[in-house]
Amino acid sequence: MIHQLIYYSRNTVPGGDRAMLTNLRDIVSASQRNNCRDGITGFLIFDKTWFIQILEGDRTQVGETYNRIARDPRHTGATVADARNVSTRSFPNWTMGGAMRTPEVEEVYLQHGVGSAIEPARLKSSQIIALAFDLQAFDQARRQGMRLAS
Ligand code: FAD
Repeated sequence: MIHQLIYYSRNTVPGGDRAMLTNLRDIVSASQRNNCRDGITGFLIFDKTWFIQILEGDRTQVGETYNRIARDPRHTGATVADARNVSTRSFPNWTMGGAMRTPEVEEVYLQHGVGSAIEPARLKSSQIIALAFDLQAFDQARRQGMRLAS
């Protein structure tokens, strides 16, 4: 059994897009290092106001990872939106994928009925996972396009 936990929190990283991207790189790099060790996979969606993260793996490891993340000063008010056992991982190949909301991916948000301001408390876990899937697919298609163009 895989344990899947979804939470949201308020982003407290100061500064503009550049500072956000630097922070995302730091977070994703620590996440990939630790999650690889702990058998955790998942996805991180974020904009200037919110983080929404899906964590999946062994129940104890997911709990320990979430507790460590919740103490991080780069965000506040971490709130578990859903935690349940599932038969398979939704993001088996991602020790932690991440997608920042930029104008480029706006259409993906609109397709999921998410307007200019995300309201994480109003999103169902199935909507969050579907949005993360499509952000992941968008990112992969973009990378593929860049490889073909070079
Ligand atoms: P290091 O990365 O070596 O950090 C040492 C200490 O410094 C830690 O306490 C760390 O929290 C703190 N620190 C490092 N950089 C900063 C900074 N720029 N500002 C403030 N404090 C800092 N970690 C995971 O392992 N897996 C995840 O999936 C994951 N997702 C995250 C999602 C979000 C939204 C956030 C904000 C953080 C996430 N993290 C994740 C990071 C996590 O909160 C810890 O920082 C990290 O796990 C600590 O890794 P480490 O023990 O290797 O310490």
